[in-house]
Amino acid sequence: MEKVRDLPDASTWHERARALRPGALALIGGALTPARSGATFDDVSPIDGRILAQVAAGDAADIDVAVAAARTAFERRVWADQPPARRKRVLLRFAELVEAAGEELALLETLDVGKPIRDSLTIDVPATVGCLRWYAEAIDKLYDEIAPTGPAALALVTREPVGVVGAIVPWNFPMIMAAWKIAPILAAGNSLVLKPSEKSPLSAIRLAELALQAGLPPGVFNVVPGEGATAGRALALHMDVNAIAFTGSTATGKVVMECAARSNLKRVSLECGGKSPNIVLADCPDLAQAAQAAAAAIFFNQGEMCSAGSRLLVHESVREPLLEQITAIGRGLAPDDPLDPRTRLGAIVDEAQTRRVLGYIDAGVREGARLALGGQRTRADSGGCYIEPTVFDAVRPQMRIAREEIFGPVLATLTFSDLDEALRIANDVDYGLAAAIWTRDINTAHRAAGALRAGTVYVNCYDADDITVPFGGFKQSGFGRDKSLHAFDKYTELKTTWIDLTAGAGRT
Ligand code: NAD
Repeated sequence: MEKVRDLPDASTWHERARALRPGALALIGGALTPARSGATFDDVSPIDGRILAQVAAGDAADIDVAVAAARTAFERRVWADQPPARRKRVLLRFAELVEAAGEELALLETLDVGKPIRDSLTIDVPATVGCLRWYAEAIDKLYDEIAPTGPAALALVTREPVGVVGAIVPWNFPMIMAAWKIAPILAAGNSLVLKPSEKSPLSAIRLAELALQAGLPPGVFNVVPGEGATAGRALALHMDVNAIAFTGSTATGKVVMECAARSNLKRVSLECGGKSPNIVLADCPDLAQAAQAAAAAIFFNQGEMCSAGSRLLVHESVREPLLEQITAIGRGLAPDDPLDPRTRLGAIVDEAQTRRVLGYIDAGVREGARLALGGQRTRADSGGCYIEPTVFDAVRPQMRIAREEIFGPVLATLTFSDLDEALRIANDVDYGLAAAIWTRDINTAHRAAGALRAGTVYVNCYDADDITVPFGGFKQSGFGRDKSLHAFDKYTELKTTWIDLTAGAGRT
């Protein structure tokens, strides 16, 4: 990770922010374009409430044109049929351009969603570049199959792109979430219409421009900014979209599935919410390390993380020392100016999300949980949206703060007396995205990992991450996996081709 002293200082970032004129148009068929209706929406920065741009408010008409552009590019095979080595070169060039534009993209990201500039620079940009590179490299290394059917026939099992994919993504990691879709979708040879969140449209527009510059043929990668209920819904309902790759809340994921069923039975994959348990047993190998990880698991990215460790399940014998250390770490993380590279905790994405998080804090207090840290809105004079790191103790499993996704820097601490009770509480929610367990005992760890109903289980760590491993959920956290080669399952059709080798075999 870059050291803070190597990064431009806060005044430089503020100066750059004032000078920035972000692109705010849709990109369809290779051309930047306003919405057909001429409508725009204000893109407001949660840092200080200033309007960053008036962004094209795409609706069903724009989605129609974008899908048509994607379809034309796909049917003409301008991308799908290029030699794999050539497609790899284009995606690698795309990654290179994103890397070169890293400071600009990081600034867009921080202004749009309020995350610390240091994180945008050292996490969001490199993860986006790394993801694009990894899938680019995979393009000319994947082989298809010949089935072992015997000498009388040749049965080829090949992967084909599904066609036109609609990607609908959220605002918490706008570029990374988009890259997790864009990279495998393009690597597999598909065309794409991306609908970024209305809360964070700027980096997606810039990414599409850079892809075009890298040599991706016009129409292969289109971006339509707009509201979920209009542009997003139109994409999910479209009769000529073959698959929807969705990341967002479980409630919206259900709507997307319904739209697919009501239209053309398009393939759907859903990366939805979470309420992940972080279980600390009495034999935790290192309480200080567990405290650091637990704090990062809920305060990193302002707690706006699908895999946030939002439920701390701690054995009653270690509750006191662990909580003491977590609250001490939280006290040192007061939200501050996101454009200052020293800042670790930035702004909440917008006013509505801020009110939602504060509403959950009120609910926790009303239901009888004990507020051990924070709980207040801060930096009122900034004009932005900031909430203190917040820790609840004495939370019971049936409370709302123990069951519902808050998506903010709010930790719910529950206690247990034995492993079975911990596993019962851990699994007793609608979600199943991630889980963690801290123990010295490999047998206990292995048993717990098997019993936890979650797509990812961390043992003696939290939020370990690599592009090589699949990521996604059990239960109402969704289905389908982002990252790794498994992501190709979502964006390819398997085709079996039988070739009879006996026809004419008698002839000489
Ligand atoms: P959201 O569901 O409100 O919105 C997600 C996207 O769906 C946005 O682009 C939005 O415009 C669009 N949308 C909204 N209504 C729609 C509709 N009726 N039809 C089609 N599209 C619609 O979620 P959000 O607030 O942007 O993001 C936060 C959620 O995302 C959290 O629940 C979080 O856990 C989840 N998330 C999951 C993962 C994961 O990998 N599992 C990763 C990041 C975020």
